Amino acid sequence: MPRNLKLSVDRGLCTSNGLCEHLAGEIFQLDGYRLAVAKVPQIEENVQLWDAVESCPVAAISVVDADTDEALYP
Ligand code: SF4
Repeated sequence: MPRNLKLSVDRGLCTSNGLCEHLAGEIFQLDGYRLAVAKVPQIEENVQLWDAVESCPVAAISVVDADTDEALYP
């Protein structure tokens, strides 16, 4: 059964390259400052999400298990 994950973006690290939005536009978007935000604070685990998270060159996206609060990434 897929885990429920909590997402957050460290906007101090984000370099605005747009990769997360490109790979998972339903989950991430660049805002008016061209910094990434998670459109949904919590989401069921899926491949597209992990592709985006792991593609971030500065590991700005943090992932926590919503049920256990275990830090899963970075
Ligand atoms: S992939 Fe990382 S650096 Fe690029 S826009 Fe998303 S959070 Fe920012």
